[in-house]
Amino acid sequence: MEFGWNAQQRRRYDAALAAARQQLPPARATPGIDPGVWRVLGEHGLLGAAVGPEYGGGGLGALDTALLFEAFGRGCEDTGLVFSAAAHLFACAMPIAEFGSPALRERLLPAMCAGRSIAANAMTEDEAGSDVSVLATLATPVDGGYLLNGTKSFVSNGPAADVLVTYATTDPAAGHFALTAFAVERGSPGVTVGAPFAKLGMTSCPASEVEFAGVFVPYDAVLGERGQGSVVFQESMLWERTCLFALFIGLQDRLMDQVVAHAGKRRQFGRPLRDFQSVTNRIVEMKLRLESSRLLLYRACWSIDSAEPDVLGSALSKLAVSEAALANAIDAVHVFAGRGYRSEYGIEAALRDAVGGTVFSGTSDMQRQIAARELGL
Ligand SMILES: Cc1cc2nc3c(=O)[nH]c(=O)nc-3n(C[C@H](O)[C@H](O)[C@H](O)COP(=O)(O)OP(=O)(O)OC[C@H]3O[C@@H](n4cnc5c(N)ncnc54)[C@H](O)[C@@H]3O)c2cc1C
Repeated sequence: MEFGWNAQQRRRYDAALAAARQQLPPARATPGIDPGVWRVLGEHGLLGAAVGPEYGGGGLGALDTALLFEAFGRGCEDTGLVFSAAAHLFACAMPIAEFGSPALRERLLPAMCAGRSIAANAMTEDEAGSDVSVLATLATPVDGGYLLNGTKSFVSNGPAADVLVTYATTDPAAGHFALTAFAVERGSPGVTVGAPFAKLGMTSCPASEVEFAGVFVPYDAVLGERGQGSVVFQESMLWERTCLFALFIGLQDRLMDQVVAHAGKRRQFGRPLRDFQSVTNRIVEMKLRLESSRLLLYRACWSIDSAEPDVLGSALSKLAVSEAALANAIDAVHVFAGRGYRSEYGIEAALRDAVGGTVFSGTSDMQRQIAARELGL
């Protein structure tokens, strides 16, 4: 068992952390992706980290990819931007790389890896949230492909997307077995993307509805095969539940740096806060949550890299990291108290950003359900 990082991982992490601190913008309240900033993420290898080098990706494994997102999550205060990059890679580029036809990969992936195009994952619908077996979006077979009709209700990156990885049913009565995955290009006639909606956290990541009204999708834009949509989605969720959440490990590292510094600097009753055990106990609890969730995440990554995907380990990792990030952000507000509640220290933004992690990629309740099922309960 090896817990240390090798020299290459350390170098890559340090370079990514420095780039995130020096080259990326501060947190933004307005939704939108700056094309120049997106190119910078592409240049630093974030957008195609786990995609094969033949398509312009970094060819990294899950653990090395996660370490990169950990560095960006720590160094970049604009968590919405890092989340946009993660959704683009794990829920879009990876399913295209793993299930797309050679022509489709050739057409889409180089621009996605380089930061010349933005992708969004469109699964959730008004009536299909935690239960994605009941999609209303229809895929009707026609000559040369399918016609898509339906509306997706929560699409991160949607307003800015050039490529939409989406899922539709060929038979609403057949549940999971009738789902098919598609990579739809934004310019296709019939695609309408809504205006960004207001949301609690990760505010710079634009999210909207996406409507497909009689959108023709050729056969070569199908990911996997007809009826394999559920498998494609589960595989992309395995990447997302495992690697994406490394950005929330980085966010917690940033909070730890801030609370430790604040506890040494801020004085009350003539002493620094670190002299009060109730403050240091709170910070130690934060560290415990961070390090235990980090270990679960690294192990889940290791299982992907070992070609032994561990559904239980990935659900536990997602649950632990997202809940730890939320609890630690609340504790950071308590350590900073009035200052934590004000916007200028970035602590309240981290709290708002952390809430979403317990909802997307399957809520905490759903991770517990998956874990219970894997335990044979
Ligand atoms: C920040 C953010 C980004 C997102 N980005 C995307 C995106 O890019 N693409 C996309 O397709 N979707 C996206 N979503 C949507 C997200 O995937 C859904 O919100 C999520 O799957 C939950 O679905 P729902 O909101 O309909 O909640 P519901 O399914 O209605 O759940 C409501 C509550 O009931 C609980 N619940 C439901 N079923 C069960 C059950 N069987 N057992 C126990 N409890 C249950 C849930 O845990 C939850 O607490 C995003 C959401 C957020 C917050």
